[in-house]
Amino acid sequence: MSQKARAPKRKSEGSGNEKSDTSQEDDSKTKSFTAPKSQGKRNPQEHKNKSKVISDASSSETSDVDVKKRKLQEKKDVDVNGGLLEAVKKSRLSVATSVSDFKFNKKRVRLVSAEENLKDDALGIVYWMSRDQRVEDNWAFLYAQRLALKQKLPLHVVFCLVPKFLDATIRHYGFMIKGLQEVAEDCKGLNIPFHLLIGYAKDVLPDFVKEHGIGGVVTDFSPLRVPLQWVSDICKRLPEDVPLVQVDAHNIVPCWVASNKQEYGARTIRRKIHDQLTQFLTDFPPVITHPYKSNLKAEPIDWDKCYASLEVDRTVKEVDWAKPGSKAGMNTLHLFISVRLKFFNSDRNNPNRQALSNLSPWFHFGQLSVQRAILEVQKYRSKYKESVDSFVEEAVVRRELADNYCYYNKNYDKVEGAYDWAKNTLKDHAKDKRTHLYSLEQLESGKTHDPLWNAAQLQMVHEGKMHGFLRMYWAKKILEWTSSPEEGLRFAIYLNDRFELDGRDPNGYVGCMWSICGIHDQGWAERAVFGKIRYMNYQGCKRKFDVAEFERRYHPKKFPA
Ligand SMILES: Cc1cc2nc3c(=O)[nH]c(=O)nc-3n(C[C@H](O)[C@H](O)[C@H](O)COP(=O)(O)OP(=O)(O)OC[C@H]3O[C@@H](n4cnc5c(N)ncnc54)[C@H](O)[C@@H]3O)c2cc1C
Repeated sequence: MSQKARAPKRKSEGSGNEKSDTSQEDDSKTKSFTAPKSQGKRNPQEHKNKSKVISDASSSETSDVDVKKRKLQEKKDVDVNGGLLEAVKKSRLSVATSVSDFKFNKKRVRLVSAEENLKDDALGIVYWMSRDQRVEDNWAFLYAQRLALKQKLPLHVVFCLVPKFLDATIRHYGFMIKGLQEVAEDCKGLNIPFHLLIGYAKDVLPDFVKEHGIGGVVTDFSPLRVPLQWVSDICKRLPEDVPLVQVDAHNIVPCWVASNKQEYGARTIRRKIHDQLTQFLTDFPPVITHPYKSNLKAEPIDWDKCYASLEVDRTVKEVDWAKPGSKAGMNTLHLFISVRLKFFNSDRNNPNRQALSNLSPWFHFGQLSVQRAILEVQKYRSKYKESVDSFVEEAVVRRELADNYCYYNKNYDKVEGAYDWAKNTLKDHAKDKRTHLYSLEQLESGKTHDPLWNAAQLQMVHEGKMHGFLRMYWAKKILEWTSSPEEGLRFAIYLNDRFELDGRDPNGYVGCMWSICGIHDQGWAERAVFGKIRYMNYQGCKRKFDVAEFERRYHPKKFPA
């Protein structure tokens, strides 16, 4: 995949070599683009959306009742989020009236396709949304709008929904689909059609682009192999004259800028990230009501039908503590800042206290920007210095380190992906006698001899989020109680991805690799089974928090089968 970063320009604008690829300068003053030759003349097929969509004409109109309901909801939202949404809206406007007036840092963008220029007769720009499922505070969305505004073209958002994805369950899909529903509504209010295409992007997006004369595609970035493969497939299947660019909208310092290699650990990436925060940790301009209307309307989406059609495991139920969507994510951020932030540093390793942000589900689905969370949390640094610094360490350094590892190590979820010292020590102890051996079924149902482990497992199964401290203990015990590190890692990833609402995330693969294979850690005193991999035990947990209290809260009796 090409690492070049270029803003697609019209072909008629020249070679595109006039400006440095990685220029960080505001390009709004560069040679203005000529109006599309075919402006006003639309592709006759444009209104005929042939891609498979889930539609229901009856749901297309917004009634007065809907408007009243929405206004009422907005008022309620202000009460819940303490005005954070309004304050953030103002703050975006104070940065720039739109992304056209904003100095967009082009290092966030890289060209994936061979073609870099937009064709002259383009009829629109597409933001192919994938990892970052939100409208505001999304650099990929903003970049797509910037291109569209510059070219005076309509902007479309496309989301390709696969009815089945790895082992994702209705817990994950339900959260995602309800979040997308909010995205679709927000897009509607901004004159940006939101198209939900059913199927793999490689099967539905290229046809959409061809049929509707789309001139350029912008997408977001994930370091995981399946989404990377999607991007590579799309690149091969898009018409040759349609440029594809990728914007890292998830990390504050773009993954490919933070480092060009796999970093050894937090200590080696920390400075690289912090040194670039002044450049990248900026506020966002707003997405504006798009001024260029398209003849291609979004097919109305029947969300209930869409939900019902999913071919996923429905036995892992949705959870009610985490309301999906960007607004709910902002509410959780507000609650974290106003109630829990002061305890974050002192109590974050205590699973009986409410000190963590709980933001991982919204971060994972891209419904809330980590950068927005950091901008807001940092405002409290003079009040809660240690907590703010710890939060930045987790949400920026550790999280971006996880993306770095998955991006540069293709074996990010396998023992082969470990450092040599860890592979060797695990091999040396592969035949050590295990005191207990459990099957996947025993682990899944929380039926081990260890009441703390079982309680943590039940918390994850029933609430979709295990406390961060216990995740380490939980995974290390899986190493101890399975027949090999390979099996242990496989079980841990399977259970994590099946039950954690934030599962299937680089943080999850790295969390399991850290616990079982010593990734981003160092060697410790050698012992059975673990070798030099850091060990954790029940007594150690007892020294950290009231283990009995946690075991009572998540006692199996409270969760009858
Ligand atoms: C075995 C194991 C499995 C894990 N699985 C996942 C997973 O599937 N998805 C996931 O997002 N995280 C995972 N983590 C990392 C971490 O435990 C969670 O991110 C955290 O518990 C989420 O809760 P929070 O949002 O309240 O975190 P907070 O403590 O409030 O932290 C804020 C944010 O910082 C980031 N963060 C925190 N801890 C870490 C960490 N150790 N590594 C990387 N980023 C971090 C997350 O984005 C988190 O949302 C795992 C860790 C381990 C040891």
